[in-house]
Amino acid sequence: MRIVLVGAGLAAQRCAETLRQLGHDGPIAMYGDELPYDRPPLSKAFLKGERPEVRFRPDAWYRDHDVDFRHQRVTRLDHLQYDKALIATGATPRTLAAFPHAFTLRTREDAIALDDALTTTRHLAIIGAGLIGQEVASAATARGIRTTLVDLDPNPFDALMGPGGGHHLRKLHEDNGVELRLGQGSGPLNADTILVAIGVAPAWTPDPAPNLFRAGDVTGSAHWEAAVVGGQNAARRMLGLQPKPEQPPLVWSDQYGVRIQRVGEITGVAPSDDLTYRRHGRLKAVVLMNRPEAVRQARRDLKEAA
Ligand SMILES: Cc1cc2nc3c(=O)[nH]c(=O)nc-3n(C[C@H](O)[C@H](O)[C@H](O)COP(=O)(O)OP(=O)(O)OC[C@H]3O[C@@H](n4cnc5c(N)ncnc54)[C@H](O)[C@@H]3O)c2cc1C
Repeated sequence: MRIVLVGAGLAAQRCAETLRQLGHDGPIAMYGDELPYDRPPLSKAFLKGERPEVRFRPDAWYRDHDVDFRHQRVTRLDHLQYDKALIATGATPRTLAAFPHAFTLRTREDAIALDDALTTTRHLAIIGAGLIGQEVASAATARGIRTTLVDLDPNPFDALMGPGGGHHLRKLHEDNGVELRLGQGSGPLNADTILVAIGVAPAWTPDPAPNLFRAGDVTGSAHWEAAVVGGQNAARRMLGLQPKPEQPPLVWSDQYGVRIQRVGEITGVAPSDDLTYRRHGRLKAVVLMNRPEAVRQARRDLKEAA
């Protein structure tokens, strides 16, 4: 069976690894318009001027596992020969026509360009206070840069922290000197550098067809672990196996020296101030601040409550 992976990011990488681990010995071709690499360090270490290795595997891994990486953009599937194909093309940042020269942050090149710009920036405005905007605010203030975080939502921090829990994160930003301009449009910005971080749109995806699978950000999920699980499960389904039993999902972010980890789902949960969230009285999500050792227990508690 010939398998083609379109997109060479996290989901495709984990799909390829899982296929080989599960014994698939047929050809695997991985098409990527970028070399395969991991993104979380781009809004963290890269904005401290560091350049950690972000490639998932050395070149030898692709040779040793007979994964034929092709540095090539795919625009049609009917030119490729496959029995099963994964679409894992990720997502592209949304932009704002009013700020045509603003930075966005998705790729390694974006991160290097933003890091370079920050070396001479006195005032950074970030439009969009989602995970990326928040992490960039954290990195910029650590560099002594005046930082304004703008969002139409009066409380954008609940999206990560859960309903009612956002003020814990808001306080972190305020304590670190971020100027928050929330619940209003950007208005005039006197910043010398602007980052637009207002979310992403799914990248290229073909119409549904037999033997086509999708995983990662192209499906609308926007988190690391979801791409890992999606890639692994796509591999299992290609081989006719059941997907792995569902785990309470994990999302994490590093800001101001605090590791924030949210385990479980916050959709439809009741507001809470103590960072544990319930739906109809049943535990659904737990948010941890600098308590990585508690993740395992949180997952157990959530499974028991399910
Ligand atoms: C700066 C940054 C920081 C992040 N930090 C965190 C974090 O702290 N915690 C967390 O949970 N998540 C984080 N994420 C999210 C996480 O990295 C993504 O969810 C994950 O990378 C999604 O993987 P993917 O394989 O779906 O997509 P991608 O990693 O985007 O890979 C898709 C690849 O496909 C390529 N491609 C697209 N179209 C084509 C085509 N037509 N032909 C060939 N190739 C194509 C793309 O160029 C890309 O290389 C972060 C994301 C970013 C951008």
